[in-house]
Amino acid sequence: DLARAHGLVACWSVPFHDTAGRVTGTVAIYPDNTRSPLSSQRTAIEAIAQLAAVAVEHRRVDEKFRLFQAAIENLNDVVMITEASPIDVPGPRISFVNPAFERMTGWSLAEAIGRNPRFLQGAETDRAVLDRVRAALDSHVPIRVELLNVDRAGRRYWIEMEISPVRTPEGAVTHFIAIERDVTERRHLEEQLRESQKMEAIGQLAGGIAHDFNNMLTAISGFAELLQVDLRDSSAETREHVLEIQRAASRSADITRKLLAFSRRQMLQPRVVDLNVIVDEMRRLLERVLDESVRQMLHLAPEPVTATVDPGQLEQVLLNLVVNARDAMPGGGTLTIRTAIVALSDEYAAAHVGVVPGNYAMLLVGDTGGGMTPEVRARIFEPFFTTKGDRGGTGLGLSTVIGIVKQSGGHVWVYTEVGHGTTMKVYFPLASEAITPVVPGDVTVEGVRTGTILVVEDEELLRSLIRRMLERAGYTVLAAGDGNSAEALLAAHTGPLDLLLTDMVLPGENGRLVAEAVLRRRPGTPVLYMSGYTEDVIVDHGVLQEGINFLEKPFTQQDLLGWITKILPTP
Ligand code: ADP
Ligand code: MG
Repeated sequence: DLARAHGLVACWSVPFHDTAGRVTGTVAIYPDNTRSPLSSQRTAIEAIAQLAAVAVEHRRVDEKFRLFQAAIENLNDVVMITEASPIDVPGPRISFVNPAFERMTGWSLAEAIGRNPRFLQGAETDRAVLDRVRAALDSHVPIRVELLNVDRAGRRYWIEMEISPVRTPEGAVTHFIAIERDVTERRHLEEQLRESQKMEAIGQLAGGIAHDFNNMLTAISGFAELLQVDLRDSSAETREHVLEIQRAASRSADITRKLLAFSRRQMLQPRVVDLNVIVDEMRRLLERVLDESVRQMLHLAPEPVTATVDPGQLEQVLLNLVVNARDAMPGGGTLTIRTAIVALSDEYAAAHVGVVPGNYAMLLVGDTGGGMTPEVRARIFEPFFTTKGDRGGTGLGLSTVIGIVKQSGGHVWVYTEVGHGTTMKVYFPLASEAITPVVPGDVTVEGVRTGTILVVEDEELLRSLIRRMLERAGYTVLAAGDGNSAEALLAAHTGPLDLLLTDMVLPGENGRLVAEAVLRRRPGTPVLYMSGYTEDVIVDHGVLQEGINFLEKPFTQQDLLGWITKILPTP
């Protein structure tokens, strides 16, 4: 219309080509013919020059655009562009997503376009975080959050997302760009790390308390034991009182032992065992623990599943797991025990804090009981954590398990689902050596005892207890509180010395140094060490070195004399 109104006669037109040579558009110029032809031509030439400049600029923009496009399509992070309307307005929202989006969510570009991004979130997504996002977007400020999303297949995953407003050159916000990545694995590892740090801290605390308690308990039960003898002629009631003290002390010692196990300071006496054999030997005991309503499924590996563990402690681990499985199935169900040799891959190790890839001996205990909520699951290894307060739960079962397993170089993997059951897998490093034969049990011998024993113990109460226990049995006792006084005693002692009984942990020194000093004066003297927990002096990572005599605290007079008899046979 314009052209007709002005009676235009000439028209310049230039096609636009894309890089493949296709015509994508045309620019037409209609010079104003009402002016002089010359000026008309000049105008046209200027216009073409401008057009050429625009074309060059267009090509540059085009190249830049293709580079951006390729970069974003190749990016491993998800890029999502949304329209800048309020986030909770229904209707078209997503304008663009890159291919990484489909890899992460399972939804294709075509399916996502036009939808509100909230369709990616589930019922468990934290509403407070969404509100923060919303507030940031409304005020056009960038925000970075972590969010729980659900993919097309229903998998829950965590994303880290940073959203920024996209502004026009004039400053208007027309879109938002979100960059997202899956951080599920990272969060999982962080959680494991937090848990292991927490357990480490609790372990140190528990270990410290248990150590001091052990000394006190040894004194309490030891003196009660002596008292029991002194009160031979007293009334039955009086003797019963002393018995009660002994019972209480022994129950307390049981708790401290479990705490020591948890804090991995328990003395272990490992040897190479076959998990199959241990499970098999325990069968009768396990049957007694279980109800008839519980069906047992035993799957033992066809080949020996060997690990270097303390067999007594391994039995404890199995028993604790089975008892928990039973408790989880009050109405009956299926208990599964399985052994296997498994290879843990680099990938598995990368996803599990503290796991070294390699071959492992696995012991699995599974139940079809009530399972655990994530809140319970997070705390099961804590000492004294129990959900069975009303049913006499102590909360020490699994803390003992984790302590024993970790001290043996293994780890525990827990899988649980509320209403479906729980599976616990215990992994020990696979042992390649042959199975160690079983050593004969302890010896206790009654009889007249003679001989001189040097006792080094810093805890005064214990020192006098041990002195009395030994003297009553007939031994001559030299007692010292530290290495120096022990040496001084020895220097003044002209008679024979038959045995050194020393604490492993002494203030400022250790039992091994004391023993060396004593052996310099009296070569060949046998040494019996005592301790409430493991110390690297004698013990290598909680494993007793070969040929060392070791008496675990707390001990009874029986234990003490039993050991001494082993070393100093009664004539
Ligand atoms: P206790 O058995 O004395 O409660 P544990 O340390 O053995 O202590 O277990 C701690 C808690 O872990 C239990 O109270 C229970 O809530 C949970 N638990 C352990 N094993 C299972 C299991 N197999 N199924 C369900 N919950 C379990
Ligand atoms: Mg238990």
